[in-house]
Amino acid sequence: MPVRMVIIGGGPGGNTAASYAARLGAEVTVIERDVVGGAAHLWDCIPSKTMIATGGAMSFTRRVEGMGLHRQEASLDLPAQRRRVQGIEGRINHHITRLLDSQGVRILRGAGRLKGPHEVVAETAEGIEEIEADAILVSTGSRPRIPDWAVPDGERVLTTRQAYPPRTMPDHLVVIGSGVTGVEFVHMFTSFGSEVTLIVSRQQVLPRKDPEVAAALEEELLRRGVHLLKGARAAGIEASDGSVAVACDDGRVARGSHALLAIGSVPNSDGMGLETAGVEVDAGGYIPINHHCQSNIAHIYAAGDVSGKLPLSSVASMQGRKIAEHVMGLHTREHRHIDYEKAASAIFTEPEIADVGLAEAEAFATGRKTRVTKVPFAAAAKALINDDPVGFVKILSDPATGVVLGGSIVGRNAAELISVIALAVTANLKVSDIVESCLAHPTLAEALADAAE
Ligand SMILES: Cc1cc2nc3c(=O)[nH]c(=O)nc-3n(C[C@H](O)[C@H](O)[C@H](O)COP(=O)(O)OP(=O)(O)OC[C@H]3O[C@@H](n4cnc5c(N)ncnc54)[C@H](O)[C@@H]3O)c2cc1C
Repeated sequence: MPVRMVIIGGGPGGNTAASYAARLGAEVTVIERDVVGGAAHLWDCIPSKTMIATGGAMSFTRRVEGMGLHRQEASLDLPAQRRRVQGIEGRINHHITRLLDSQGVRILRGAGRLKGPHEVVAETAEGIEEIEADAILVSTGSRPRIPDWAVPDGERVLTTRQAYPPRTMPDHLVVIGSGVTGVEFVHMFTSFGSEVTLIVSRQQVLPRKDPEVAAALEEELLRRGVHLLKGARAAGIEASDGSVAVACDDGRVARGSHALLAIGSVPNSDGMGLETAGVEVDAGGYIPINHHCQSNIAHIYAAGDVSGKLPLSSVASMQGRKIAEHVMGLHTREHRHIDYEKAASAIFTEPEIADVGLAEAEAFATGRKTRVTKVPFAAAAKALINDDPVGFVKILSDPATGVVLGGSIVGRNAAELISVIALAVTANLKVSDIVESCLAHPTLAEALADAAE
């Protein structure tokens, strides 16, 4: 009899696990209350990057003189933008649904919860169905964190899910939170022409990033005229007569036409019946997992944001694949564990930012001996051809062995270029391996080879 796997939540964690497990011979059911593809496709990655791409095109039109072109102003078409976001989401979700259908995965539209260690309940429009499972995956994702001092109304006070695009374009947006999501929204709305104030709780935007990387972004934000309110924590929002006032705990007040909350997320683990199955949940509501993504109950797994690991779509997908392999008994080799330290991540701002593995500040803080080499894009022919010489490539390696330990890239196409360093970090390649690769010319990737030398 095939392994019966039930997956609650069809985001990147759930649908990847479903696809792999079905391919490996499992009988898979996915319960999804919204859209297969998950919040990642409906609310987070895809709409934000779609609008950022539009913003990028708009900001490009403002600096075409450098390419030897006459400048013509582009303006945002909000309804067209909405159609564009929905069109892309629809195509991606259609593709995923068709793939799962073709693999024989059963998709139930409704809310899922555990009824016991081996029983899952699906509440669908057709009624309630109880399903027996040999393995269960909880991949229910997360939702925006809403503090008790804010009431998002979808008009003036927005969560990240109410901004794709907002009903009216903000004249002046106050963004609360300067992590990855916050700065991406700042970038997006300044590209669209909005004035933006960014409330930064520490003294550095992107507080968890390498200071040199964060400084490069901050420079661009200031160039765009973003008002940075540093060392301030929002403590209240008042919305009235077409304006908002965000009060900070130090007495300062940021005024604008709209406010956007970008202060993290909370896991979707409540009301899931986890306790009835004996699954442990930590104080934050996350399901702690081991290196096979198993919860404290061996056949109940968690993937994606609800697992409390890196909240990235790419990580959720990787977990989903590993879980499918583990459920089907294909997990014997050590290197099959996910090393979260080696996950690449990107911030889709201008300049774009990406990093992987060890960061310079971290190496310094821990006293780890590291060779750091840095090359500015200004030295790369392709960057000059693109009229975009901003940024740099930084590679960290072990001085004794030359093994690549990490890297940061700031500049155009950073999110694509980091793949080379990510591969080197994952495969324990040496800087000499990058140098010995004969790269195409002229490319931005040549800066990687230069930095590796
Ligand atoms: C604005 C924003 C931009 C982002 N951009 C990026 C990016 O560029 N790159 C990147 O890698 N990551 C990005 N992320 C993070 C990424 O979106 C998440 O890490 C990713 O969605 C996590 O995937 P998941 O499978 O855990 O859950 P989700 O994508 O959240 O999917 C979970 C699914 O479970 C369903 N569900 C929940 N409860 C139930 C239930 N009881 N029954 C049935 N179904 C249920 C939900 O409807 C949802 O479809 C971004 C996040 C935000 C907020």
